[in-house]
Amino acid sequence: MITPNTHYADLKDSYLFYNIAQKTQAYVAAHPGTRLLRMGIGDVSLPLCEVVIKALHEAVDDQAAKDTFHGYMPECGWPFLRETIAGHYAKRGVAVGADEVFVSSGASDELGDILDLFDRGSSALVVEPAYPAYVDANVMAGRKTVHLPSGEDNGFLPEPGADAKADLIYICSPNNPTGAVFDREKLRRWVDFANENGSVILFDAAYEAFIEDPALPRSIFEIDGARTCAIEICSLSKTAGFTGTRLGYTVIPRELVRGGMRFNDMWVRNRTTKTNGVSYIIQKGGAAVFTDEGQAQIAENIRYYKENARILMRALDGLGIWYCGGKNAPYIWLKCPGGMGSWELFDLLLSEVQVVGTPGEGFGACGAGYFRLSTFGDRDETVEAAARLTKLLGK
Ligand code: PLP
Repeated sequence: MITPNTHYADLKDSYLFYNIAQKTQAYVAAHPGTRLLRMGIGDVSLPLCEVVIKALHEAVDDQAAKDTFHGYMPECGWPFLRETIAGHYAKRGVAVGADEVFVSSGASDELGDILDLFDRGSSALVVEPAYPAYVDANVMAGRKTVHLPSGEDNGFLPEPGADAKADLIYICSPNNPTGAVFDREKLRRWVDFANENGSVILFDAAYEAFIEDPALPRSIFEIDGARTCAIEICSLSKTAGFTGTRLGYTVIPRELVRGGMRFNDMWVRNRTTKTNGVSYIIQKGGAAVFTDEGQAQIAENIRYYKENARILMRALDGLGIWYCGGKNAPYIWLKCPGGMGSWELFDLLLSEVQVVGTPGEGFGACGAGYFRLSTFGDRDETVEAAARLTKLLGK
């Protein structure tokens, strides 16, 4: 009889969003007709922008004619898109080769798949609170995970140190769920630490487009030394509303070598074995994001979410509730008022004002007592949620 991967038995019982969905469904079933305001899961609410839709339509038409039809795409990405993305980095002063850019179906897929590059006996450090998939993907692989908690004392941006030694280091900046962003100096300390220890940083830049402060790094490759210790994982999901369309990219510098093996070459070998590339139609839509028009249109959508953030932040300021994030990130991370637990606040908001948020402890033990609000919602619903929070918590 075949032996299953028994590491699946080590996974925590249920996934955060599954728990939230269960509780929410149970509430709606018991209260039919309820208007829920979903400020929880980080899905976008605005449609794809005009230039992307146009490119997608054109790509469909390309597939209808013999001369323009595309079959299998190159496994590592359409060369035009790889070059376009490298050019996008160049505009920000970051030198990345087109052969260092790998087009993916999104950051989630990549965060799981990329673990193929590392020995199962290696350890993974997760800076917490963190996106739950980091830990789960490593548990599934049987890898040892080290949890590095952060808190209000360090602005949810912990420093490297003796307790942070691991082979793989996950850093997400802007962070989901806290919205905290590493500045250059703090990120440089992690880069130096990784180079000193021979570690590899998996830098999750899924929210880089939300950084508005020009002094903050949007790519780890803005930091000297990162090319010998980092892989950057990016996504168009939140940047350009591709959550349901699926496109991302990963940068693996050619200088990233451990034990005589070059990770860029290994990833080419991996991709050419395990995928047949991302759909031509979707890559064509993705390329439109990087045009001047595309950049202007996605910036408009991001401004919409930023205004949602301001509405929620004003409500929290009025209530005197501590929070971080919101300014350079699409998430607001607040301290549960009155010493409430995070599931306690979740239940209270659901039952009293039908606002659904995300309990902080779902992102690691140090998230207990905190709560995440997403700013990706509809404007009217955000305004309504802010009003309901003010009414309930201002009592
Ligand atoms: N990384 C972080 C930090 C995220 O929050 C998310 C999605 O919410 C992802 C990665 C996954 O993004 P994608 O939609 O590209 O799979």
